[in-house]
Amino acid sequence: MPRPIQAHIDLSALEHNLNVVRRMSSARIMAVIKAAAYGHGLLRAAEALNAAEGFALLDIQEAVRLREAGFRQQILLLEGFFSSDDLPLLAEYDLASVIHSPHQIAMLDAYPRRGGLSLWLKINSGMNRLGFPPREVPAVMEKLKNHAAVKDVTLMTHFSHADEAEGVAQQLERFNTLAAPYRAPRSLANSAALLRYPATHADWVRPGIMLYGASPFAGTEAGQFGLRPAMTLSSEIISVREIGAGEQVGYGGLFRAESTTRVGVVACGYADGYPRHAPTGTPVLVQGRRTRTLGRVSMDMLSVDLSALPETAVGSKVTLWGQGLPVEEVAHAAGTISYELLCALTARVPVVA
Ligand SMILES: *Cc1c(COP(=O)(O)O)cnc(C)c1O
Repeated sequence: MPRPIQAHIDLSALEHNLNVVRRMSSARIMAVIKAAAYGHGLLRAAEALNAAEGFALLDIQEAVRLREAGFRQQILLLEGFFSSDDLPLLAEYDLASVIHSPHQIAMLDAYPRRGGLSLWLKINSGMNRLGFPPREVPAVMEKLKNHAAVKDVTLMTHFSHADEAEGVAQQLERFNTLAAPYRAPRSLANSAALLRYPATHADWVRPGIMLYGASPFAGTEAGQFGLRPAMTLSSEIISVREIGAGEQVGYGGLFRAESTTRVGVVACGYADGYPRHAPTGTPVLVQGRRTRTLGRVSMDMLSVDLSALPETAVGSKVTLWGQGLPVEEVAHAAGTISYELLCALTARVPVVA
């Protein structure tokens, strides 16, 4: 029998979450499926999200694979093209690309073919990651609009504080001012902006995390927005022992029992993508009942407290996150965010639908 860990993907949850976006906004939906669809599997997720008008990811080979699998939607490369060798592929497979830096314009200028390229001009409205600074935008826009290799241009930006108190006001105003002279379609909103700021929806929304049923906001859970978790990471108890007061569990003995404690060992560790930083007390479900982790997470195993769950035994089912235990809660306990946990799932974990 294979090791009992697996990540199960609820395809109907993906479809449901896409419909939640649909009901919230009349914009076209660019479903963000980077990082193997946040760990859910690229093609599987794309199929479940097939009603979206577009897919956004990073890797041109993955984009080609989507096209070859028959997807007809817009496919957008979020970090743009990395080399002039990418340009013929963009044209051949009808892939749209972000353009964010002057070196990419130089590649375009050297590209001999005419027409064909759909570009998303990324404006740095304050995040200072990718994008042209506001003062350069008018000249870049004129250049692209008149460029022989370019078919159409969409204007985009990305928010740095859409999930926090500071919000989007300043970046939104900067973007709107820069975009005002043009008729180009616009795209601004990630999940957090989509949920919180209807004024950012524009022509294309770019939801990622919410499609997978997790909340982009610290301290809120996706259920509040009617979203359903798509991934459930589960495994089983593979050993049970009772330890006495004063005995320790795991590397470094980070957990020390104060009284008799029934300890279960779960076949799941950081080499599966479970966060090593998760401290004693991180929530976990055993046979659907909530308990806590004990001690340090090791490479292949972690320990859980079965003291209040006498009906559990070797073979009892364990949910690390997902159905019944929001990944946000586990992430919060481990000092990280749901995004990181979903993406960090490692190749040895079977992902099944
Ligand atoms: C990842 C990403 C998104 C999606 O962000 P979520 O917070 O997961 O909704 C949207 N736009 C860009 C440019 C991204 O890189």
